[in-house]
Amino acid sequence: MGIILDIHLHTSRHSRCSRIRPEDLIDQAVRVGLDGLVITEHHYQWDQQELADLAAASRHPGFILLSAFEYSSSQGDLLVYGLEPQLAGEFRPGWPPERAAELVQHHGGVCIAAHPTRADLGFDERLATLPLVAMEVRSVKMKEHEQRLALNISEAMKIPAVAGSDAHDLHDVGRFATEFEDLITCSADLQSALSRGRFHVVSSTVRKAP
Ligand SMILES: [Zn+2]
Ligand SMILES: [Zn+2]
Repeated sequence: MGIILDIHLHTSRHSRCSRIRPEDLIDQAVRVGLDGLVITEHHYQWDQQELADLAAASRHPGFILLSAFEYSSSQGDLLVYGLEPQLAGEFRPGWPPERAAELVQHHGGVCIAAHPTRADLGFDERLATLPLVAMEVRSVKMKEHEQRLALNISEAMKIPAVAGSDAHDLHDVGRFATEFEDLITCSADLQSALSRGRFHVVSSTVRKAP
């Protein structure tokens, strides 16, 4: 049995569009059967101390709490994993996606295309040329047909599929998630699993619910 993570969500602490209070997050995640979360604020990455403080305040000592960030390019959003938190500030919103992806690679991180087929926030044909380790094919922010299209594109392009909730409200946490085949305890583990394609999409995270 793998490790089930919601790898895309926002909190009100650093994403003004989110209504999720960080202090409610871990309880909710455990309730819906997640093993861990990757908080992906817009243009901000939680640092180690913030993560440790939130984890310590929860009643779930084994819970996996990691951070990454979501970058808004001139055409499409990228989820960026594996960078040092302070590097998020180097990424100015609105660059062409290839420029942001190049800087991520330069710093040794990896990119996932977020909601790539969204009518308002999707990518153009450059999607095919970006150095992606995966494509998001399901989230609460993608309509049914956008999810089907994203899955078809990921299969046609042979880019592995991931799912994350993109939650901005507490009840959406864990609605979509990704199961990893190896133990993940830190962001280096996550990055390595993403690079090696050792994961698959899970549509439900209720398996551990009481
Ligand atoms: Zn948002
Ligand atoms: Zn998002």
